Amino acid sequence: MASYDQLPATITVASVRDITPNMRRVTFAGAGVTAYASDETRVPNIKLIFPNPSTGVLSLPVVNDDGSRLQWPDPAVRGRVRTYTVRRLDPVAAEMDVDFVRHGDEGLASAWAERAQPGDTIGAAAGGGITAPVADRYLIVGDETALPAIGRMLERLPAAAVGTVYVEVDAPAEEQDLTAPAGLDIVWLHRHGSPAGTTTLLTDAVKNHTFPDVPGEKVFAWVSAESAVVLDLRRHLRNNVGMDRKSTLVIGYWKRGVSETGYGKAADHDRDFTEHDA
Ligand SMILES: Cc1cc2nc3c(=O)[nH]c(=O)nc-3n(C[C@H](O)[C@H](O)[C@H](O)COP(=O)(O)OP(=O)(O)OC[C@H]3O[C@@H](n4cnc5c(N)ncnc54)[C@H](O)[C@@H]3O)c2cc1C
Repeated sequence: MASYDQLPATITVASVRDITPNMRRVTFAGAGVTAYASDETRVPNIKLIFPNPSTGVLSLPVVNDDGSRLQWPDPAVRGRVRTYTVRRLDPVAAEMDVDFVRHGDEGLASAWAERAQPGDTIGAAAGGGITAPVADRYLIVGDETALPAIGRMLERLPAAAVGTVYVEVDAPAEEQDLTAPAGLDIVWLHRHGSPAGTTTLLTDAVKNHTFPDVPGEKVFAWVSAESAVVLDLRRHLRNNVGMDRKSTLVIGYWKRGVSETGYGKAADHDRDFTEHDA
């Protein structure tokens, strides 16, 4: 678990570029990133705190006396926290990339990313996350919100890793060049204009996926996407494939029609704390 030493930090936008039409990479730099990067248990999942969209004022939580917890004197500030993936962290250069799905102005973070300019500041706090365990075979599944995590994970798997990766994006133009072990088969699925979170592309792909029948083989499944997808796939992996909880990590990254604050409060990202990360 990350400590709150030197957190929350204020991180400053250094550059903004679109790596695909719907994915905006914001590079943060400077002293705030150095503070954040001083503890590597803070990656890959980062809590970003956004300014009040009406006033542009950035308010941050405070740390309690023993430095173990963030406190939120103003509940409205807590509502301006969103979870993202640190796609790249370079502690030496004090740079950090976060890739934002451009899903429009309905989302606080997405709207901020649409307008982000060098010099803008937001807050960064907490963080952490689970790395994939050693397994004989991997099944990795996600939509574009999970693509930064998938890209990061694939870069860190052993060179001999084998398995299949299913990624749902809108169109071929959204595919990214991912660095991955040669034994990982990356399958891109395209919505072709259907709204995110409305298709069964990922669930169909996994339900039609054939798991090789290798006695004793240890398979690990990682799934992150819209809430309905992860709930359906958790059921499938448990009930039809017969995977136990320790062989899966299934987490909802977002829920259609609900802000992250609401999704977190109502369902805690559909986590099952008895899964791999327990
Ligand atoms: C561990 C973790 C890591 C994550 N990493 C990333 C990441 O690296 N990059 C990334 O882009 N997202 C990532 N997400 C997902 C991101 O936190 C959510 O998409 C979040 O809701 C975006 O916040 P927002 O303020 O833009 O929208 P919110 O204010 O939370 O939501 C407003 C509306 O937008 C809808 N919405 C939210 N996300 C999307 C979407 N992607 N497409 C269409 N509609 C959407 C909601 O359903 C809601 O109706 C991650 C989530 C988790 C839990």
